Amino acid sequence: MIIGVPKEIKEQENRVALTPAGVDAFVRAGHKVLVETNAGMGSGFTDEEYAALGAEIMPDASKVWEQADMILKVKEPLKSEYKYFRKDLIIFTYLHLAAEEELTKALMDSGAVAIAYETVQNPDGSLPLLTPMSEVAGRMAVQQGSIYLEKTRGGKGVLIDGVPGVPPAHVVVVGAGVVGTGAIRRAIGLGARVTVLDVNVNRLRYLGEVFMGRLETLYSNNYNIMQAVKTADLVVGAVLIPGAKAPKLITEEMVKQMEPGSVIVDVAIDQGGCVETIEHPTTHADPIFEKHGVIHYAVANIPGAVPRTSTFALTNVTLPYAVKIANKGWKQALIDDEPLRKGANVLDGKIVYKSVADAFNMPY
Ligand code: NAD
Repeated sequence: MIIGVPKEIKEQENRVALTPAGVDAFVRAGHKVLVETNAGMGSGFTDEEYAALGAEIMPDASKVWEQADMILKVKEPLKSEYKYFRKDLIIFTYLHLAAEEELTKALMDSGAVAIAYETVQNPDGSLPLLTPMSEVAGRMAVQQGSIYLEKTRGGKGVLIDGVPGVPPAHVVVVGAGVVGTGAIRRAIGLGARVTVLDVNVNRLRYLGEVFMGRLETLYSNNYNIMQAVKTADLVVGAVLIPGAKAPKLITEEMVKQMEPGSVIVDVAIDQGGCVETIEHPTTHADPIFEKHGVIHYAVANIPGAVPRTSTFALTNVTLPYAVKIANKGWKQALIDDEPLRKGANVLDGKIVYKSVADAFNMPY
């Protein structure tokens, strides 16, 4: 199979879908790899490194898309890439289709095979291709949030861990999954007072034990979120209902009750966001806006800020699936591998993932 790796074109996205080690794995398995010039530069990989392991370096994206049987990407294709979609082209990347109606329609119209990293799912419900990026994003959410709490950045001027005689910042994390845990870990590590809310009591129980009394846990309902958010200096939105649009758990009323200069980081923005006052994702180039005196940060590709760490973390887990698809062909790979089968979102012009179909009231 011919594997194509175009350079990411989303603003400030410096990750790449394949490392030189990945080229080596494909070439050893008898496949051909096309890498667009400079695709790996943002993550610190040169064209020469890819070429030395057998990749063919292509001068422009159109050649990669046109010649490849399978495109490996990081972020969802952008509008300028829709023209390359064609019947039977395999696109293996993050797609987040429930929040992307136009992309979903373009994939359906083309007959391409769209397999989404974020819905590949293990029998225990975990999402192995989302996990590493969530681990990065959760840590970064608190790192970025604490920076925007600084007065010079528009924040209320609070030091996250306080000092003797002055209390630390209150960090409220909504959603105790992988992002939430990364955020909690970083926030507790920095010395904040931390509250986490989730509807999964077992998860709260587990985290309560792991963080041994340094974490307040609260069952997630409208009332408890309102109470916690009211006293928060930094709120991290980290909920997920797999494949579906995020529920707007943090309402405009709650945001209005926060103190001026407080910060909200909505990590769940790539699934539409869980904060009512955030209508659109922001970018690394222009990451924040203010509403009701509160700083809102809604970057949809947070791990893109630490591309080298993120690229290694992502490709460690995507590569075995990509090699499986290349070795067996997509049909057989989906039949043989149950977690990968869950990754199929659009096949033969039809949506095959229920919550994506539900998001657009389309048949499934
Ligand atoms: P996860 O499945 O590990 O965790 C989600 C948690 O949300 C679960 O514990 C679940 O019980 C909880 N939840 C569901 N409904 C809830 C409710 N009503 N109240 C409170 N909690 C609720 O998912 P994750 O890996 O932590 O990802 C969270 C979100 O972050 C996803 O939308 C993911 O796509 C997104 N994400 C964004 C970026 C970014 O750069 N912006 C990066 C990585 C992940």
